[in-house]
Amino acid sequence: MAKIISGKEVSAKVRAEVKAECEQLKAKGIHPGLAVIIVGDDPASRVYVNNKKKACAEVGFVSEEYALPAETTQEELLALVEQLNNKPEINGILCQLPLPKHLDEKAVINAISPMKDVDAFHPSNVGRIMIGDYHFLPCTPAGVMEMVHSEGIEVSGKNCVVIGRSNIVGKPMAMLLLHENGTVTICHSRTQNLKEICSNADILVAAVGRPKFVKADMVKEGAVVLDVGINRDENGKLCGDVDFDEVAPKASYITPVPGGVGPMTIAMLMKNTLKAAKIQNFH
Ligand code: NDP
Repeated sequence: MAKIISGKEVSAKVRAEVKAECEQLKAKGIHPGLAVIIVGDDPASRVYVNNKKKACAEVGFVSEEYALPAETTQEELLALVEQLNNKPEINGILCQLPLPKHLDEKAVINAISPMKDVDAFHPSNVGRIMIGDYHFLPCTPAGVMEMVHSEGIEVSGKNCVVIGRSNIVGKPMAMLLLHENGTVTICHSRTQNLKEICSNADILVAAVGRPKFVKADMVKEGAVVLDVGINRDENGKLCGDVDFDEVAPKASYITPVPGGVGPMTIAMLMKNTLKAAKIQNFH
């Protein structure tokens, strides 16, 4: 039976470290600040934004929320980003995605100052990740790596398979595993022999967005299985991309949903904001 890597525990440790460092910064007169922009009234986005604000309060950051109406124009949104780029009290800026259809997400991401881009979505930060010379890592893949490190799991030389190639999860996830000398395969919807490829993985990351997609016959005995998915099953219950009940007996380590990668994402956002505050004040 696999050992469960608890995102609740690992994220609590990360948040405690951030809090301790934040206190040290405050003693030097530096108050890390995160601005969160939300446009429209998407209920899921609202939950995410509230969780981010709560996490900021817990670690001692200043948080500012900019809740804009759904009919906000591109110009208004870009003007706000520009204003926050120039605001010294704000070290990190994030714009909760998805944006309403009439707004250009790419243009908004590009407008955020790369030094305040704590989601690490700006092309300059993405490029820095590619060459391994980065300030910030995208929060979800960084959270997965933090869980891997928390158990002392060796990546070097391992067969790593990432299912999913999105810009926010799959691609950067593969890059982080590659940086640690994993032999990485990225799978997607056009991949042939998915089952065969996955069954060779020593480390399998599922970022597919399909409930219980990864079954036991896709998993090698003793594999490390990391589940990024957040889905609802047929009964409306929260579940991952991995069929936990089937896969857990076969894996050596597994992350649960809920209580796995999810809580890590916000903890890593706090870590990035702290780093942004340090860079902006000490460099
Ligand atoms: P996307 O929808 O952007 O990407 C899904 C990827 O899965 C795509 O690359 C797609 O391939 C691939 N895929 C879809 N169907 C199949 C299939 N049948 N076989 C193989 N590959 C397939 O999702 P995200 O990357 O944004 O998110 C993935 C999951 O992670 C979601 O459940 C999301 O909710 C969750 N998530 C969780 C976070 C957290 O904090 N824990 C943060 C972000 C996301 P193709 O490119 O060919 O279409």
